[in-house]
Amino acid sequence: MTELDRLLFDNRFTAELPADPDRSNRRRQVHRACFSRVVPTPVSAPKTLAWSPEVADLLGLAPEVCRSEDFAQVFGGNRVPAGADPFAANYGGHQFGGWAGQLGDGRAIALGEVLDRNREHQILQLKGAGPTPYSRMADGRAVLRSSIREFLCSEAMHHLGVATTRALSLVTTGQTVVRDVLYDGNARPEPGAVVCRVAPSFTRFGNFQLPAWRGERDVLEQLVRFTIRTDFAHLAADGFPVLGEAVGSWFDEICTRTAALVVDWMRVGFVHGVLNSDNMSILGMTIDYGPYGWLESFDPGWTPNTTDAGTRRYRFGAQPEVAHWNLVQLANSLLVLTEDPEPLQAGLESYVASYHRGFEAMMAERLGWGSPLQEDDRLLSELFVMLGRTETDQVLFFRDLARVPVDTDGDLPAGALLAPLAGAWYKPEEVVGEVREAVVGWLRSWGRRAAEGGLADDNRRRRMDAVNPRFVLRNYLAQEAIDAAEDGDPSLVAELLDVLRHPYAEQPGRERFSARRPEWARERVGCSMLSCSS
Ligand code: AMP
Ligand code: MG
Repeated sequence: MTELDRLLFDNRFTAELPADPDRSNRRRQVHRACFSRVVPTPVSAPKTLAWSPEVADLLGLAPEVCRSEDFAQVFGGNRVPAGADPFAANYGGHQFGGWAGQLGDGRAIALGEVLDRNREHQILQLKGAGPTPYSRMADGRAVLRSSIREFLCSEAMHHLGVATTRALSLVTTGQTVVRDVLYDGNARPEPGAVVCRVAPSFTRFGNFQLPAWRGERDVLEQLVRFTIRTDFAHLAADGFPVLGEAVGSWFDEICTRTAALVVDWMRVGFVHGVLNSDNMSILGMTIDYGPYGWLESFDPGWTPNTTDAGTRRYRFGAQPEVAHWNLVQLANSLLVLTEDPEPLQAGLESYVASYHRGFEAMMAERLGWGSPLQEDDRLLSELFVMLGRTETDQVLFFRDLARVPVDTDGDLPAGALLAPLAGAWYKPEEVVGEVREAVVGWLRSWGRRAAEGGLADDNRRRRMDAVNPRFVLRNYLAQEAIDAAEDGDPSLVAELLDVLRHPYAEQPGRERFSARRPEWARERVGCSMLSCSS
C-alpha cells in the first residue's frame, strides 16, 4: 500500500453505465456500451517532469507523494492503484463539419473517479497511456510537446478563470513516439509523455451523438439520466419523472454554460483550434488541448491549426457560431428522447441570447465602462476596425488601456494617450498619420464613455486588470519550454507554470513572459503553425 492506494475511488461511470464485455484493447466498433474496460500499457522509464500543486492539493496529495517514484509509476500508467477501474469512453462526433462515426478515447484511459477534498468526484484520466479499442489506426501515445502544451494550458486557463479540465501531472515515458508534425513525409521519433487530466466528467457532446446515431435509444437514455443525476444534480432534485422535461432544462443549461465558456475564450484570446463535437464538454469546460493558440495580434480570422488552413472553420472569430453549430448537433441527438423540438429550440435560442448578453457585459468590463449600454455597439465596432489597422498585440492593448488617462475635457495631448500602449504595436512605424489619428480618436471616445460609466480611476483600473490578463501562454513561450524540455531541461515548464498561476498580477522581474511575440516566432512551426499531430 502506498499513499496513492489511499485515494478514495467511487467509480460511478463504470458502475452505472452499460459496459463493453470485451476487456481486450483490440481495435473494434463497440455497440450498446458507453465504455470499455482497458488498462494502461506500461512504459519503460516513467519520470515526473512537472505537477500542479493546486490539483495535487485538491486531491489531497502531499508534495512528497508527487515527488515519489510511485507517483511516476501510477501516472505514467505502470501501476493501477487500489480501487481504480480503468476504462476508455465510447463516443462519436462531427469532425470539421462531417459525421465521423465512432471515435472514442483512443489514447486516454481513465483510472476512475476519486473524491477530492470537497467530496466532489474527479475523474483521473491518463492521456497517452497506450492503445484502447478506440485507437483505430493510431498508437495510443502522446508526444512530449503536445503533453507540455496540454499540461500548461489546462492550468493557465484555470487560473485565468476559464472553465477547463485540469492537469495533475506530466510524466515522460522514456520511450519515443514517431510523428510527422506537418504531415509532409518527415516523420521522426520524439519523446513520449503522459498527462493526467482531472475533471468531474470528460463526457462530450459526441458521447450522446453516437448512441443516437446508432439507434440505441436505451443507451442514450441511460447516459442522459446518469449525466443529469451526477453532474447536474440540482436539475434532478425532484426526480424529474418526465424525461422530456428534464432534457429540456438540462439542454438549456448546457447552452448557457457553453455560451459563458465561449465569452471567456473571446476575452482571453484563446483559439481552441479543433472544435469538433467530440471536443465539446457537456459541462461547458475547455477540453482537449491540441493545436490551440493564443491570439497575439488582433485578427478574428486567425487559426493556429494548419490542418484547418483551407477553410479556417475554427478561426478565433468563428468560435461563437461553431459552438452553436455543435449544440445543434447535440440537440438533434436529444430529439430522439424529447420527440419534441420545441424545448431544444428554446435552448439554442438561449445560447444566442446569453452569448450576446455575456459578450457585451464582458467587453464593457474589459474596457472599464461598468454596465454595458446600447450605444456601445458602435464604439466596439470602431475598436475592432482600429485594432485591425496595424498589427496590435491584443493582450497588451487591453491590459495597458487601463493605464491610458481618461480624457474628460478632450484636451490631453495625443502623446499622453498613446504612451501607455507603446508596447502593443508590432510595427510602431505604422502608427502614424491616419492610423495614429484613428487610434487617438478612439481613445478619446473610450475616455468619454469611461467617464460616463462613472467608475473612479483606481476602481476602474482594478476592475480592468481583473479581466485583462498580463500573462497568457503565448505560443512562442510554450514552444521555448518545449525546446528546452526536449533538450533535457524542464525548468522552463516549471517557471511558466508558476508565472501562469497569477495571470492578472504584475510580476516584477518576469516582464519577459508578457512581452509581445518576437519576430523569430512569426512563422515558426509550433509558434504560429500547429497541426493535429500530437
Ligand atoms: P483529437 O483530434 O485529438 O481530438 O482526436 C480525435 C480522435 O482520435 C479521438 O478519438 C482520439 O482519442 C483519437 N486519437 C488521437 N490521437 C491518437 C493516438 N495517437 N492514438 C490513438 N488515438 C488517437
Ligand atoms: Mg479529442
